[in-house]
Amino acid sequence: MPMASVTLLWVGEVMSAVPLKNDKPVEAGVRTVTVLGATGSIGDSTMDLLRGAPGRYRVEALTANSNVEGLAKLAREFDARFVAVADTARFGELKDALAGSGIECGVGESAIIEAASRPTDWLMAAVSGAAGLKPALAAVDRGTTIALANKECLVCAGDFFMQRAAKAGACILPADSEHNALFQALSSGNRDELTRVIITASGGPFRTWAAADIENATLAQALKHPNWSMGRKITIDSASMMNKGLEVIEAACLFALEPEEIDVLVHPQSIIHGMVEFSDRSVVAQLGTPDMRTPIAHCLGWPERIAGPAVKLDLASIGQLTFEAPDFARFPALRLAYDALRTGNGATTVYNAANEIAVAAFIAEKIRFGAIARLVEATMNDWVRAGNLAPLSSADDAIAVDHNARNMAASLLPQIAAMAS
Ligand code: NAD
Ligand code: MG
Repeated sequence: MPMASVTLLWVGEVMSAVPLKNDKPVEAGVRTVTVLGATGSIGDSTMDLLRGAPGRYRVEALTANSNVEGLAKLAREFDARFVAVADTARFGELKDALAGSGIECGVGESAIIEAASRPTDWLMAAVSGAAGLKPALAAVDRGTTIALANKECLVCAGDFFMQRAAKAGACILPADSEHNALFQALSSGNRDELTRVIITASGGPFRTWAAADIENATLAQALKHPNWSMGRKITIDSASMMNKGLEVIEAACLFALEPEEIDVLVHPQSIIHGMVEFSDRSVVAQLGTPDMRTPIAHCLGWPERIAGPAVKLDLASIGQLTFEAPDFARFPALRLAYDALRTGNGATTVYNAANEIAVAAFIAEKIRFGAIARLVEATMNDWVRAGNLAPLSSADDAIAVDHNARNMAASLLPQIAAMAS
């Protein structure tokens, strides 16, 4: 039993697979690792950390959607044992790119799942979107330690994901910066002493914009995040504050919290990432320069600390940290996340699925920026009206809801696109 001496987070009768304490001696020697989504922004930060500690880690498997060139380059550099691309049309290209290297390769969703299933000590789940759910579950089922960046997979599967992880003895380490901050702060008290968590939000590029300007924001404007450099989808989600909505749901799932226990605070400098308030009114925060390599390094080194490459925090030169309440009227995506969480029964799956359709439509210039949240809201309303709410009791349930909600969102798309704001 690999996790026998790890204390997991307990909330009443609910056990979450987030570890609170690890009394297990840290094994010396080489740790085996797999990175799902190795060619993305989180993948890149993860590979950078691995690169910085030669000899400490051995790469078992790396995956990507379609970037064969980037994947093959990483596979050769790290001498991976197995690589997989999701795009089935790229198999020939991948084989050619790895010719003579002895690296095994696969293609399609089943190969991504195979990469996740291969035994390792640690896995980074950094696929973008609900497409990451099945591979993440494959890693969960082998009871390994998983650094979870892919928030959509949690939002899609709901409580079911964490319960399955707890049953399998998997350790889920939150890699998202806000949740990693909460994870670090949580160990200052017991779960029953926690009164509230606060996740911060930069406010994105449209923080100070009027609603009418947000409505018609262009793709280029939405892709200009003030503080963080990230993949396209999450950058657009940050501009709509859908990302913060997903993170509210992510926090609820990871730490078994009620919606009332999760607050969002706009903090434009992105220095404080998350805070936990305890019953004595102490608030414990985690701070750092906005660099994803810090929370990823925390997950990679856990339960120890390893050297991180981020720029040192210099508060004197930053001078001022400022805070604002979130504006639910200009950023309805955030309000919808709380609605979805309170509704339960698959509503968070619908929220995420509709958003994935909406973001793809916005990138394809089929809808205005303001229509992203409108499509999500219309899909959620129609879903409830059609009597589709039902508890999720398996991954297949979540995947079916995700599939049907995408179809519903796609069918609502033309009327939402035509609607005046
Ligand atoms: P990205 O778009 O830069 O990279 C996504 C990775 O997943 C790529 O390697 C891509 O090839 C792969 N991928 C995409 N679709 C796939 C599919 N259908 N099948 C298999 N692989 C697929 O995204 P990112 O910014 O690195 O974000 C990854 C995840 O981490 C997202 O869930 C995001 O919300 C989360 N996250 C990202 C950041 C960040 O700073 N970038 C911070 C916190 C959380
Ligand atoms: Mg985040």
